[in-house]
Amino acid sequence: MTGTLRNTGKMPVLFLGHGSPMNAIEENEFVDGFRKIGKEIVKPDAVLCISAHWETRGTFVTSTSKPSTIHDFGGFPRKLYEVQYPAPGSPALAEETKSLITEPKIGLDQNRGLDHGAWSVIKHLYPDADVPVIQMSIDFTKTPQYHYELAKQLSVLRNKGVLIIGSGNMVHNLGMVAWESLGGKPFAYDWAIEANEKMKNYILSDDHNNLINYKSQGKSFELAVPTPEHYLPLIYALALKDKNDRISLFNDKPVAGSLTMTSVVIQPE
Ligand code: ZN
Repeated sequence: MTGTLRNTGKMPVLFLGHGSPMNAIEENEFVDGFRKIGKEIVKPDAVLCISAHWETRGTFVTSTSKPSTIHDFGGFPRKLYEVQYPAPGSPALAEETKSLITEPKIGLDQNRGLDHGAWSVIKHLYPDADVPVIQMSIDFTKTPQYHYELAKQLSVLRNKGVLIIGSGNMVHNLGMVAWESLGGKPFAYDWAIEANEKMKNYILSDDHNNLINYKSQGKSFELAVPTPEHYLPLIYALALKDKNDRISLFNDKPVAGSLTMTSVVIQPE
């Protein structure tokens, strides 16, 4: 271990439902929720974000000192492509993360910047871009149990001033988005509500096994999690919860029928 990070009190852990990239530039209740959380929790020395939008074979962390803002989406207004989030990186945190994860060996990515799963939400927590951010990728070849065990190895960082953020969506089925409901009242399909309620119950009762084994949870989960990348960041966040940590939810609302923005705060007692 390089040991360049200072020891701190225990940091919270977040799972943020990021939803549409437009949340980066819109004013809405979800953005308000992100801002509120940013003010409520202790300001971290650095952020480590596991985003749905960085999948790799093997696990990597970004180690550049000046990560670029990646606009990894298509068909949005020009204004969204003009957003820059110039938070510095943290090569020191990248090195420390690499050295504390012994199994598997993880790699450093010296080129990659921040994807919208990270910057579209972190910019509301820390609008001045004054908190260094690194990202850790999701190995798409691995099982949920594997990700859960890997995430546990990050727990040391909670006492090193690092805020760990999983960024995805609990219910996320883009193929079934009810576009016509956008801009109207919050709307969710019955299966989306059912899956979201079950997930919340499991989260609040520390029943991580049922969340890890989401593929055995029936039809509503099948529809809510058609692909794992937006769901797995939740598994990373929950794996870091200690027995005595408090857990609470915010932004617990559906969007466009087949998405939920439900976000999780894990706080030391
Ligand atoms: Zn996304």
